[in-house]
Amino acid sequence: MPKGALVIISAPSGTGKSTVLRRILQCRKDLRYSVSCTTRAPRPGEKHGRSYFFLGPEEFKRRIQRHEFLEWAMVHGNYYGTPRRFIEESVQSGRWVLLDIDVKGAASVRRKIPDAVTVFLLPPSWEELKHRLAVRREDARSAAVRLANARAELLAAKDYDYVVVNDDLDAAVAQIESIVTAESLKTSRRELSGLS
Ligand code: ADP
Ligand code: 5GP
Repeated sequence: MPKGALVIISAPSGTGKSTVLRRILQCRKDLRYSVSCTTRAPRPGEKHGRSYFFLGPEEFKRRIQRHEFLEWAMVHGNYYGTPRRFIEESVQSGRWVLLDIDVKGAASVRRKIPDAVTVFLLPPSWEELKHRLAVRREDARSAAVRLANARAELLAAKDYDYVVVNDDLDAAVAQIESIVTAESLKTSRRELSGLS
């Protein structure tokens, strides 16, 4: 069985990553989502085990010490980490996994798993990013921290394999689906020995 692979999506907070990923996961049942752990508080509507595993800082640090994360990072003042076992089991069983992680996390996964596919999602403009953060009912302090961090995050876009602009939602979803399809058809990922 061919091994699975990772598709990492990063973007400044508020760009629409969660919205885009939700849509992709609805129409691509072959993809799995890596649910991260975080110490930040849940937003309205977020469910433990679906959006994130919401943990206290002590429990998060215990899991760091037990090497339970493939990577972890402090982002906007909170801990976030990717559970290692889910990723390893998925890839071993031939599944493709979507990860929504920040630029530090993406670089760290890339060092460990060089064939991970990286996609940077861009907002159509700075003004639109501010607007999206505001409509998400982010509290004002948290929105300001995210906006300040966005400038540095945008500089990392050049290190990604692909860049997609989330202006029209349908177009962004279709473009990321095309990337996943094309990547899964790469010769290097396929087992062609049966044809020779
Ligand atoms: P992120 O996960 O990147 O922080 P969200 O998915 O929470 O961002 O989206 C932030 C806000 O932007 C939400 O209110 C969402 O409905 C809106 N949004 C997402 N994508 C688009 C888009 N293509 N056009 C307009 N609004 C969008
Ligand atoms: P939010 O709090 O808006 O859901 O996410 C804030 C940031 O944390 C986003 O850039 C998101 O991609 C990132 N993030 C979410 N989960 C993880 C993770 O497991 N590891 C890392 N490094 N970043 C994450």
